[in-house]
Parts: sequence; structure tokens; C-alpha cells
Amino acid sequence: MRLKDKTILITAAGQGIGKASALGCAAEGAKVIATDINAETLATLAKENPAIETRLLDVTKPDEIKALAADLPPLDGLFNCAGFVHHGSILDVSDEDWAFSMDLNVTAMMRMCRALLPGMLERAEATGAVSIVNMASMASSIKGFPLRAVYGASKAAVIGLTKSIAADFVKQGVRCNALCPGTVDTPSLRGRIASAADPVQAEKDFIARQPMGRLATVNDIAPMVIYLLSDESRFVSGQALLVDGGVTI
Ligand code: NAD
Repeated sequence: MRLKDKTILITAAGQGIGKASALGCAAEGAKVIATDINAETLATLAKENPAIETRLLDVTKPDEIKALAADLPPLDGLFNCAGFVHHGSILDVSDEDWAFSMDLNVTAMMRMCRALLPGMLERAEATGAVSIVNMASMASSIKGFPLRAVYGASKAAVIGLTKSIAADFVKQGVRCNALCPGTVDTPSLRGRIASAADPVQAEKDFIARQPMGRLATVNDIAPMVIYLLSDESRFVSGQALLVDGGVTI
């Protein structure tokens, strides 16, 4: 039980990587508070594991974050998973596209960290260790990909924010790391494939950029989340950890 006695909040936990992480953390003994904007997927998650507490949260709504923060038990771990993939080069990006992605991928994450850090600092004083995991991507400051202009910029900002939190609070028992997955088979990836002009070719192209010859599954990613939230990673902070199937070899 690598997360025994830890209370962990996860955003965008209704499906995909967030859901797998919620189930994985619960299996490792954590008390998981799973949040999402989608009540239906949260209800399905709660059926799969009734020990997981679910709460509706739209991370782009500052008032919802404030209300949640005021109503939470002390947190040992926070996994900011919510994010959106915009498809296009800079020439395809409207101001609205830019604002939407930056708001969801970066500003919401900043607000979550800002709202929950005071409670986590108190917890760190008591236990010596709390951990924040922020969802970035291999498409970020790590590597450029075609048609990921806003996405890459927003995920690079996540890495910068993560390093800054890590630097500011390293002496107070707070660790903060960014997770950088390769291409993961999730409902939203399936949506991106389905909306391509040639979905069969689009899937082949996604697989072709993964040197291991396949997409990641959510269960290839969740173990890194568990590791980063657990005390096993107690000497790891301020890092952008790749789980990319060899893309950046
Ligand atoms: P997904 O896109 O399939 O699911 C996203 C979840 O986010 C859904 O449950 C949705 O309801 C929730 N959500 C959307 N808007 C929200 C909001 N405003 N507030 C709260 N929840 C909201 O999940 P995924 O593909 O596992 O992606 C999760 C994260 O992983 C994202 O940040 C994404 O950028 C990142 N990521 C994904 C991949 C990939 O290939 N799938 C690769 C690298 C990084």
C-alpha cells in the first residue's frame, strides 16, 4: 500500500489518465477525491470503486475551486490532470482558441495549486511530505510536434509553473513535478482520431511517432502518477518526467 494514509485529489478523473490514476491511487490505499466536470463519468467511477469520493469541479471556474478548497480535508497529494489538445499550427489559432487552452491547461492549474497549497503546507508541516503532480506532455518545452502550437506552449508553461512551485516550497516539504506522457489511448485521443479527415491514417500516424510501435495505455501512465505521489519519490522535485515510449530517445 504505497499511498496508505494519504488523501489525494485528482482533476479530470472521469475518464482517461485521470480515471486510471484515481483507481490506481485507491488501489494503493489512498483516500481519493476524484473531480471532473462530467457527472456521468464520475458516477461510473464511483460505481467501479465506491471508496472513491467524487465531486463535480470545473477547473476553469475560480469560485468552484475556492468552494472546494474551503471544504477539503488536508491533502497529501494533488494531481492536476485536466487539459485540452488544440489541433493546429499558429496560423490556425484564433484568440479564442489560445485563451481557452491557456485557461484550462495553465491558469486553472495555477489556481488549483494556489488554492490548495496553503492546506498542503500545513499538512507538510505535520507529515514532512506532500506532492503535486501537474500534467504536461512530451509536446511542450521538451519537444516540438506539428500542429500543436497552443498545446505545446501551454504544456511548456505547465513545466515552468511546476519548477517554480518546486523551487519556492522545496524547504517546506512540498514536492512538485510535471508528468510528460507520449501518445496515450484515451477517449479524447479517440475523438481526435475520429475527427481527422482520414481516421485510419490518423491512427497510423499517431502510432508511427511512438518508437515502441504502439500507443500508451492509461495503465502505462498511472504508475508514474502513483510513484510521484508516493514517498518513494521523496528525493524528486521540479522535474519533467517523460513516459513517452521512447519518443525522446
Ligand atoms: P481525456 O481528454 O480523455 O479526458 C479529459 C477529462 O477532462 C474528461 O473527463 C473531461 O470531462 C475533463 N474535463 C474537461 N474539461 C474540464 C474542466 N473544465 N474541468 C474539469 N474537468 C474537465 O483525458 P486524457 O487524454 O487522459 O488527458 C488528460 C490530460 O493528459 C490532459 O491534460 C492532456 O493534455 C494530457 N495528455 C494526454 C495525452 C494523450 O495522448 N491522451 C498525452 C499527453 C498528455
